[in-house]
Amino acid sequence: MKLTRSSWLEVNLDKLVYNIEQIRSILDKNVKIISVVKSNAYGFGSLKIVETLREEGINFFAVATNSEAIKIRRKFKDIDILILGYTPEYVMADAIENNIIMATYSLETAEILSKIAVSLNKVARIHLVVDSGMNRIGFKVNEDSINEVVEISKLNNVKIEGIFSHFAAADSNFDYTESQYRNFIFFVKSVEDKGVDVGIRHINNSQGVINYREYSLDGVRPGIVQYGSTEGVASRYENFNVEYIGEIKAEISHLKIVKKGEKVGYGLTYEAEDDIRVATLPIGYADGIIRQLSGKIDVLIGGKRCPQIGRICMDQMMIDVSKVNCKIGDEAVLLGKQGEEEISIGELAEKAGEVDTSFSCHFSMRLPRVYI
Ligand code: PLP
Repeated sequence: MKLTRSSWLEVNLDKLVYNIEQIRSILDKNVKIISVVKSNAYGFGSLKIVETLREEGINFFAVATNSEAIKIRRKFKDIDILILGYTPEYVMADAIENNIIMATYSLETAEILSKIAVSLNKVARIHLVVDSGMNRIGFKVNEDSINEVVEISKLNNVKIEGIFSHFAAADSNFDYTESQYRNFIFFVKSVEDKGVDVGIRHINNSQGVINYREYSLDGVRPGIVQYGSTEGVASRYENFNVEYIGEIKAEISHLKIVKKGEKVGYGLTYEAEDDIRVATLPIGYADGIIRQLSGKIDVLIGGKRCPQIGRICMDQMMIDVSKVNCKIGDEAVLLGKQGEEEISIGELAEKAGEVDTSFSCHFSMRLPRVYI
């Protein structure tokens, strides 16, 4: 791929495939992988990620919004796409026309969907959402909700194809996770006892996949683990291992000596204690290296860790390269490996006060994705 600028996000698709194989190694063969590709596939580019995973036999994807779904649908006609979040009334017709599955958690919404679907002479495909304990969206586990689902099952042109819930603390709280699972199963059984066919049942996210195989049900919804992070949580399953698929790189755009006592960057926050050699990189907070990281991160140049100094600018940042030999055009690694050194997503996320998932959402559209 031809680069359009001298900083980029490299995405290793072989590692993505490897991670999917690792996930599959935990699961029974009949468990469906609903690959979560919301937020532009956690920053890596949803179209390329879907294309690669489709070649690996995955045909079910989940996003957060209708526009994310439509972007994928335009290119891929023969896959299932589920919107995990809220779909407002004014985009429902578009979703139905594009054969997108919607998450539904009230009779009122389902009735609106039914009306729209009837008027279009199409079917609104839905997955019911159950709030098993996170208090985000979903049917509360109670008699009223069970009755509402029974009513939904009778609506014209609405097809219940699945039912799901979401864990709030699968990384850290076994008892709570177990109680959420029980609540979910209780709800599913209760509506099934009333004659409702709920379709496929799914609750496991990445943390569920790597630690609660017994909760796999008919499908699982891995997000971040596909991209190679377990958010620092070790899997219960021996030999399970994933590799992070992204590296952020930039080429040195300028080099100079900064004399003792001179300042560097906006706000003059950095003052050289000695004469130092400073490299400038053409990458900044608008690319995803957020401003809160100013003065906290290292960048790999010449195989060594070099400290970033002064405030990170929108499009550039300065690095103290006094300890390495380098020249303009040399590659700097802000995330990933160079020689023996590595800057992991976990390291960046922690320094930014974030988690791996939230940090990867900063990778901006301006940063070209280079697929290798
Ligand atoms: N399912 C739902 C409903 C979600 O909201 C998310 C992401 O937040 C996921 C699955 C995937 O989560 P993770 O990236 O932790 O696997």
